[in-house]
Amino acid sequence: MNKQFIFDEPIFVTKAKLPEFEQYSERIKSIWKNNWLTNNGPLLNELKGKLTNYLNVSEIELFSNGHQALEIAIKALDLKGEIITTPFTFVSTVHAIKNCGIEPVFCDIDPVTLNINPDEIVKLITPKTSAILPVHVFGVPCDHNQISEIAKKHNLKLIYDAAHAFGVEVDGKGIGTFGDVSMFSLHATKVYNTIEGGALTFNDRQFGGKVFKQKNFGLSSATSVDFVGTNAKLNEFQAAMGLCNLESINEDIANREAIYHAYCSKLKDVNINFIEFDKNVKANYSYFPILLPNKEIRDLIFENLQKYNIFTRKYFYPVCNDFECYKETPYLTPIARDIGNRVLCLPMYSELSIDAVNQISNALIYELSQTNVLV
Ligand SMILES: *Cc1c(COP(=O)(O)O)cnc(C)c1O
Repeated sequence: MNKQFIFDEPIFVTKAKLPEFEQYSERIKSIWKNNWLTNNGPLLNELKGKLTNYLNVSEIELFSNGHQALEIAIKALDLKGEIITTPFTFVSTVHAIKNCGIEPVFCDIDPVTLNINPDEIVKLITPKTSAILPVHVFGVPCDHNQISEIAKKHNLKLIYDAAHAFGVEVDGKGIGTFGDVSMFSLHATKVYNTIEGGALTFNDRQFGGKVFKQKNFGLSSATSVDFVGTNAKLNEFQAAMGLCNLESINEDIANREAIYHAYCSKLKDVNINFIEFDKNVKANYSYFPILLPNKEIRDLIFENLQKYNIFTRKYFYPVCNDFECYKETPYLTPIARDIGNRVLCLPMYSELSIDAVNQISNALIYELSQTNVLV
């Protein structure tokens, strides 16, 4: 260990974005004035308008969290049977499928983009398949052209888990315009937060009516219920947080971009892989995952960085089909498992200083040199 790279205070893998206290208190004054705390309030509607613009989408609905939003999307599309998804994701994706009474079918990933591999999707389609649910992992866009062609050809619905992809654009198009519906998580740990929160974006206005009712008990009026719904409403305090955080989002992502480039230039000569973005992608730099040569070295680096007060995260490890509740035989996703064994997310958040990034990188390079990985 090299003592000069120790931090005085712990550096965590992420840090929730909070606006200035005064800015938030100013925003919530109207809640007292209107005495309107939740249920389709004015702040919620102001936020919906602003997010529609920012995300460059045609329709949006907001929810109490991303997970509920995803379950509601699946229910509103009337899916059944099997849904093809990736095991290299946060377990929420798979739970949403299972909680709707549908079997998740795990598809292997591409070792470079870490996203679902379209060539593998085709092999898993059966008469029971009703949809494909890819994830834009770490904000890297999936191969939408190829995936949507497969979905069309086999008459499958296409739902994107865009939890990591807030603000991402491909060829100038909002990533939330892809497929039948996309889910964004607005959780405290994400690039942009409403404390807890989730969004669905889609192009079909009628679908919006359905998901709106789903989040409000299936009510169509005070005295009539159309179907069995749930409660997944975003309240006015969450909306106020969202309005405040939206004011700084461009600056936040610009800071993340600078951090991304600082890591890349420090680590470019080290024998580890990190994600890169195509030229046509406007990225959000939501995470900084690296791939180490093997699990042993990944686990060692994870442990040893803690001695420097640097807390990284093995994300996503284990992959979902290694969890007890989703174990399957035969095991068909060796690439996902291998990536899960080698991945490590380094600290990444808008307030992280470039000096800190350099120090984290120096500690990492030093520790790697002690393991005989080429530096
Ligand atoms: C965060 C996350 C979710 C769940 O979102 P919540 O807002 O926390 O409910 C779903 N999928 C992925 C990939 C996530 O990272």
